[in-house]
Amino acid sequence: NDVPLDYPINPDEEDWSKLFPTYFRPHTEEAQTGSDIKRPLSPSAADGAGSAESLAKRGPAATPTAALEQVPAQVEFADIGCGYGGLLVALAPLYPNTLMVGMEIRTKLVDYLQQRIEALRGFQQGLLLRKNVEWVDVRSKISQEIAALDQPAVEGEEDLHDNGETNRLVPGHYENIAAMRINCQKYLPNFFKKGQLSKMFILFADPHFKRRKHKARIISTTMLAEYAYVMRTGGIIYMITDVKDLYDWSVKRLDNFPLFERIPDEELKSDPAIPCVINSTEEGKKVARNKGQKYLACYRRIEDTFKD
Ligand code: SAM
Repeated sequence: NDVPLDYPINPDEEDWSKLFPTYFRPHTEEAQTGSDIKRPLSPSAADGAGSAESLAKRGPAATPTAALEQVPAQVEFADIGCGYGGLLVALAPLYPNTLMVGMEIRTKLVDYLQQRIEALRGFQQGLLLRKNVEWVDVRSKISQEIAALDQPAVEGEEDLHDNGETNRLVPGHYENIAAMRINCQKYLPNFFKKGQLSKMFILFADPHFKRRKHKARIISTTMLAEYAYVMRTGGIIYMITDVKDLYDWSVKRLDNFPLFERIPDEELKSDPAIPCVINSTEEGKKVARNKGQKYLACYRRIEDTFKD
């Protein structure tokens, strides 16, 4: 992680075309042509439940040429500490018109995920066989590199070869996901405007058990203030962990934070993102394999009614 972090001075400065070439024009090109950024086929509100049936009816996601109507493109989902990216791969076909970014501090994982997404994009363009070979190559090459690192997350490595139910690959659906290297504890408001995000995922975060390391926890009162800033009213934070102590810590802070309210478990049953949150990440699969407990809590960003 010695590579310096690259971040924009404010969200308008970020050139999203590097991550989502189907949806954004490069800043340089925009300046020359004066044209606006590309737009998704429809706002993410149109993304409903992703049942197999509705996926089949919907067919492939927006193509570059079809993608020029309605609202301006912007990232709406963020996976904080996305690791190997299993969540994004699972969500991509469920919300085909929503742009989602995985944010990860470890360079090796970001490189791996970017290549994984590139391979998936090739796969959707009909290069299935060739890309499948490359996909395997990319995986084993990166797995070896990751195995050589002295990092705890390496344990989940065999998961890379396991496409479980929620990680089923669906052609035509991977232009809307991307990975970026960022320290989420420092630069989130540099990338996202106030109220931009409708979903934020904090899945199996590092527990940082020692008291002096608690400040590195991804959920803290300070960080919740930033999350509340970048999230829109009605947006949802999904949090899941196998560490009861971390769960209790996080729930306590979320419960006490005035701009988030807990969503009752009953309400979550109809949320199509929930099975992915529980089952699709590499860490989540590892927990399941080890027959560990998973503790889930989701919170809605509520309106800020404070007036001076
Ligand atoms: N969410 C993934 C999953 O469920 O498989 C990964 C879980 S892993 C235990 C936690 C990840 O968060 C690690 O990959 C770690 O590098 C990343 N992370 C920790 N602190 C971070 C930070 N401040 N900014 C971005 N990523 C961070």
